[in-house]
Amino acid sequence: MDFVAGSSSQQREEVAAETGAAVKNREEEMHRSVLGQLKPDYVKVKESLKGLNLTTVCEEAKCPNIGECWGGLEGTATATIMLMGDTCTRGCKFCHIKTSRAPPPVDEDEPRKVAEAISKWGLDYVVLTSVDRDDMPDGGAGHFARTISTLKDLNSKVKIEALVSDFQGNEACVKTVVDSGLDVYAHNIETVERLQGRVRDHRAGYKQSLKTLEYAKSLRQDLVTKSSIMLGVGEKDEEVFQAMRDLRSVGVEILTFGQYLRPSRRHMRVYEYVPMDKYDYWKREGEALGFAFVASGPLVRSSYKAGEFFISAMLNERRKAAAA
Ligand code: SF4
Repeated sequence: MDFVAGSSSQQREEVAAETGAAVKNREEEMHRSVLGQLKPDYVKVKESLKGLNLTTVCEEAKCPNIGECWGGLEGTATATIMLMGDTCTRGCKFCHIKTSRAPPPVDEDEPRKVAEAISKWGLDYVVLTSVDRDDMPDGGAGHFARTISTLKDLNSKVKIEALVSDFQGNEACVKTVVDSGLDVYAHNIETVERLQGRVRDHRAGYKQSLKTLEYAKSLRQDLVTKSSIMLGVGEKDEEVFQAMRDLRSVGVEILTFGQYLRPSRRHMRVYEYVPMDKYDYWKREGEALGFAFVASGPLVRSSYKAGEFFISAMLNERRKAAAA
């Protein structure tokens, strides 16, 4: 614990002393280093997206892992598709997505288009996510559910993770998604309890998020639940430990940790660049607390191939065991 606290406070001082330009250069360098490794499959998936009017989070969020995930070897290719447009009704301080109180209406035909496109690509694991749609009576739960069930009808083998909103804590919406036949229910708490207001939209909340994860798991014991924490926004170690314990207490099995990178000067600042050994530390501590898998690294995002590969194998094992 001592080395952790010591290195954190030193790092904080270094970050505080950095000029805006130095921070920007550093962030751009991190993006470039991974984007430089794009593989041919990435181009193939990107091309087939063009005609379909679909949005991928991988691109919208300028995710540095895009080449690795989309360019996966056979049997490991994944992608993250964003449903219900590119405009969110919330305004989290770390997020680069466009926001509006009244985004354009959703494309009612999107569930079919997405399902057909994904089954054509032959992906093994797909993450469906969305902007938050507080303007829709069901928060978009029905749209999610239609997409998932249509995709499962077309290809029962593809594993589906839905990274969803908190639906303002509405249990009926959570149930609609869970009942659609997905494999992994993901919802991110994003940060520790104390920093929720600083980091997330005021309509989000730590307890509300935990409750939706708990409710989802209570509906289907075979459902894998997953969450994610961004590091480098001012959290303290004991608060991270508490968040991990809280997630375990509501049955969450998969956890990811990644570094917060500021998308623009208008967004919340980076409080700290967390050192590499600290990511290893959280992985060890998380697995010791009972998470089945913890993906932890500066460039890990809530949707991340290494995690998805692990979950996929875990689901196969469980299905085999259940069938035996
Ligand atoms: S709810 Fe999600 S998409 Fe919307 S602003 Fe917050 S992080 Fe971004």
